[in-house]
Amino acid sequence: MEILHSVNDFNEAKQVIVGGVNSPVRAFGSVGGTPRFIAKGEGSYLYDVDGNKYLDFVQSWGPLIWGHCDSDIVEAVIESVKKGMSFGAPTELETTLAKEIIALYDGVEKVRMVSSGTEATMSAIRLARAYSGKDNILKFDGCYHGHSDSLLVSAGSGCATFGSPSSPGVPEDFSKHTLVAPYNRIEGLREFFEKGSIGCVIIEPIAGNMGLVPASKEFISTLRALCDEFGVVLIFDEVMSGFRASLKGAQSYYDVIPDMVTFGKVIGGGMPLACFGGKDEIMKLLSPVGKVYQAGTLSGNPVAVSAGLMSVCKLKNNPEIYKRLQALAERLMDGFRSEANKRGIALQTQVRGSMFGYFFNDTEVKDFDDAKRSDTVLFSKFHAKMLEKGIYLAPSAYEAGFICSTMNESEIDGAIKACAESLEEIVNGI
Ligand SMILES: *Cc1c(COP(=O)(O)O)cnc(C)c1O
Repeated sequence: MEILHSVNDFNEAKQVIVGGVNSPVRAFGSVGGTPRFIAKGEGSYLYDVDGNKYLDFVQSWGPLIWGHCDSDIVEAVIESVKKGMSFGAPTELETTLAKEIIALYDGVEKVRMVSSGTEATMSAIRLARAYSGKDNILKFDGCYHGHSDSLLVSAGSGCATFGSPSSPGVPEDFSKHTLVAPYNRIEGLREFFEKGSIGCVIIEPIAGNMGLVPASKEFISTLRALCDEFGVVLIFDEVMSGFRASLKGAQSYYDVIPDMVTFGKVIGGGMPLACFGGKDEIMKLLSPVGKVYQAGTLSGNPVAVSAGLMSVCKLKNNPEIYKRLQALAERLMDGFRSEANKRGIALQTQVRGSMFGYFFNDTEVKDFDDAKRSDTVLFSKFHAKMLEKGIYLAPSAYEAGFICSTMNESEIDGAIKACAESLEEIVNGI
């Protein structure tokens, strides 16, 4: 595969953009190799600047459930752009999208739109803290909620309850308000509530940022019960799983209603749009009705909302699509697993709707510690081989993969064949 133009583009980009990329994982740092510079996308495929074609299982990290350049979404965007790019004043479109989200998600009575998932979780936490009157928050190891200071915190060493900054530049004075508990572990969870004076809990109920690791039903219902008992606001971070794992996100898998929900990715249809919402009683503390400040020059941007509204309405009008996407995801994961097993390689797989994940790991992955025991050297080799064969997988062992609506069984079978060839080369040391 010829990638000379990508190599040159990457070198040139590195001179003016830090690391050559505008979001770190795009640099292929954890797998090695050259990130492909993309010329265009079309349906299930990406085309790089050297003219190579890839079956795209990243789909812009989740937003593109309708694939690249869906004609309805493209048309909605063009029509919207013609009427103006941004007004800094309300539009009817925003109300329409808000109604669609509220109709589908229990516990969401009011929303506020923002431009990124990071902003959505950051604002939701500010509001939850104001509502509960308590500063401490609880998150779970391996869950990602964007890059705001309070959330860039990892589990402290040993039995320390409070987290420590996971990035330089995050003051310990901030991280000391963030408690980090193990994902999916009910044992010991109560103690965090007893000791921690927690104002809110934020969780990815279907974690997609440590690979795909869904929480157990029991874990989520225990969390709900503890939040009720201790007067703690429960936030479901559905920036990835919302409209992805199912039309109703995680709420189709758990009989639990959160107090607040954050959305992003799919609700923007590929444009920068996210939102947070929740019970009216909490949301009404938000400015201009209440005193909790939050704002954005481009929040609810009409072009972004037009793309998101089309994406969401198409999903609502075609709810059966999730079954088909899930069947394709299962076909892909069953194929990968059986090709691995044939060669004596253990592979753990998961599917939730159009999301999939796989770990080169001997045992089932239930939390971040399990995930970190995966064979990342093997993953890197596999990633490189698949890319060479035109299969574009996330360049990290700890990311979920995505199926889009334009994919079909023969494309999935092509990816499985590439998987078989890649693993065969790896076991033969090629
Ligand atoms: C992607 C993601 C975010 C952050 O969203 P950005 O738009 O990248 O800021 C937050 N939470 C979850 C669960 C995500 O997957």
